[in-house]
Amino acid sequence: MSNEHLNETGVLITGGGIVGLSAALFLHQNNVPFILIEKNPTLSMLPRARGFSARTMELYRSVGLQQAIEKQALKAWKQGTFGGARSGKSMLDSLSLSEADVQRLHSEADPSPCMLTACPQTLIEPVLYEALLDREQNIHFGWELIEISQHKSGVTARVRDSEGALHQINASFLFAADGARSSIRSASGIQRKGIEASRHYLNIFFEADLTDDVCGKTFSQCEVSNDTVKGLFLSMNNTTRWSFHLDYDPDKCHPEQWDDNALISALRSAIGKDCEIKVLARSPWNTRVKVANVYRRDRIFLMGDAAHVMPPWGGFNANTGIADAHNLCWKIAHVLAGKDDESLLETYETERLPVAERNGKQAWLRTDFDARFQIKSPGNAGYFNDIIDCNELHMRYEYARNRTVEKLLCQPGTRFPHLWVIYCGKTISTLDLFDTEYVRLGGPDSYALGQECFYRFGHELFPCEESSSWRSLTGLADNQTILVRPDGFIV
Ligand SMILES: Cc1cc2nc3c(=O)[nH]c(=O)nc-3n(C[C@H](O)[C@H](O)[C@H](O)COP(=O)(O)OP(=O)(O)OC[C@H]3O[C@@H](n4cnc5c(N)ncnc54)[C@H](O)[C@@H]3O)c2cc1C
Repeated sequence: MSNEHLNETGVLITGGGIVGLSAALFLHQNNVPFILIEKNPTLSMLPRARGFSARTMELYRSVGLQQAIEKQALKAWKQGTFGGARSGKSMLDSLSLSEADVQRLHSEADPSPCMLTACPQTLIEPVLYEALLDREQNIHFGWELIEISQHKSGVTARVRDSEGALHQINASFLFAADGARSSIRSASGIQRKGIEASRHYLNIFFEADLTDDVCGKTFSQCEVSNDTVKGLFLSMNNTTRWSFHLDYDPDKCHPEQWDDNALISALRSAIGKDCEIKVLARSPWNTRVKVANVYRRDRIFLMGDAAHVMPPWGGFNANTGIADAHNLCWKIAHVLAGKDDESLLETYETERLPVAERNGKQAWLRTDFDARFQIKSPGNAGYFNDIIDCNELHMRYEYARNRTVEKLLCQPGTRFPHLWVIYCGKTISTLDLFDTEYVRLGGPDSYALGQECFYRFGHELFPCEESSSWRSLTGLADNQTILVRPDGFIV
């Protein structure tokens, strides 16, 4: 160990994917010192998530990045819009799924200062990365975790940097945001359970100018099936960049080992014409649902894909992982600062693990293409009725009773409802009141003793709409108060 560089920190984050980067921003928000290491030298170029829920955008709003991400989203789509589904023998031959057949599960978005934002993950990660560089210097790409050991007061990690030099990092806590194949999870002896994969795909990210071919016919997903190829196109910019998810049987072939020419030939068949194609990246994945049996091994916490994987149907996994990070970071901050005792950290698993199980099941229920787009068919009738609306899953979970609710009304363990209010002459969302400390909110006739921040409707806060009030927002009497955690959840 004598030639190793020694570093001390509060939290070591392993993994610079979307979840590790988000965790770093939330720790920074909470003034917790951290070091982030990522074994790859650069951010991933592989397109995966494209739908960031309004709740995820609320979390990014809390760290000042809502506008920057919305700006990226505006630039993402070079023609048409994001959304819609098509299917056919090839992309060019495909037809749009009929809107008339869609059975909307929920008609409108939940009240929020943010909206569901469609933007490829590859455009969002650079925003998070740049923001971190502006705020912190402890981001190390090209650094790989190679060994960990735990002791009573922390974790010791051995890390190899991009030059091959070894570092020892002593941290109070370790966040394993090291993806689905998490070596930290395996080294910690944590097993996973769930549903085995029924489908296997090769994600092929490629360049091909299809601008004229899809003009007026843009889509979010286009399922194709013909005699030579089966799979799914996901739009990336609606013109020149696409990803195709080649459906294959791993007992019969291994397309991840094919050369580019073989992939290009499959892509041409899936598109439906000969055209110039450049393969940019590839990566296999499958539709299994796996959730770790535990989220914590002493001072090590799993988050994101290290804790749960699920098929992308419904767009839950990254959103679930980002919310994991947000849930844990304020708790770590409060425990490190001695404001709460260590038992608070136990709630990370009791709150977040059931959410991953629920979302995993919901993603799996959307395996059928029609069900994913809310179309009931004879083939999906058996499980269609179990599908829960996406807004409800992302926004309206109730930690206390491990369920989702019809409406947010200050039930313990739910997120405080959003309302635009005037505070100190400025229009803000009620959610903007939550940051790093507990906050008490109350009706016009309420009063509170104690040190925590206290905001009363009709005194410090004034609803922007006359028809709104403390009562209509919370369902509580005018003399009642409520305590809200730093993450906006009711105690
Ligand atoms: C086709 C597809 C579409 C998807 N669409 C959606 C969607 O619309 N919405 C949604 O919410 N989710 C979606 N997902 C899921 C989403 O992409 C993932 O959940 C998300 O990327 C996981 O992020 P992560 O940071 O947990 O893991 P990763 O992105 O896998 O990052 C883990 C990082 O850890 C690093 N690492 C690993 N080991 C070490 C080590 N020893 N030392 C240092 N670094 C290490 C890796 O290099 C990697 O960069 C989709 C997934 C796929 C495949």
